[in-house]
Amino acid sequence: MSPENCPKCNGTIQPLSMTLCWFPFFLRCSHCNVKLKLKSYRVLALTAVAYIALMIVSIMLVPFVRSYGLGILLGVFGWYVVYYYAARYMLNKDNLQLLE
Ligand SMILES: [Zn+2]
Repeated sequence: MSPENCPKCNGTIQPLSMTLCWFPFFLRCSHCNVKLKLKSYRVLALTAVAYIALMIVSIMLVPFVRSYGLGILLGVFGWYVVYYYAARYMLNKDNLQLLE
């Protein structure tokens, strides 16, 4: 059972699908093509703030991260991992609404 459900067709909304390319402004269900928006951006905002703070701290405190541009690589890759897990909480039926 997946938590990412479309309120219209009950299809699974994949956190990394291309239909989310305009996320977080709006997103589309890949099954019924309906436009959706998040009711609450709280989880997304908290996740982004916590992640940016963590990256800044690790870049300042860990010299290894600063060298070889590793910070950027880690930052981008890490964000996808964090986003993937955060999306499981954001993209549930209770937090999605149809956009007319
Ligand atoms: Zn749908």
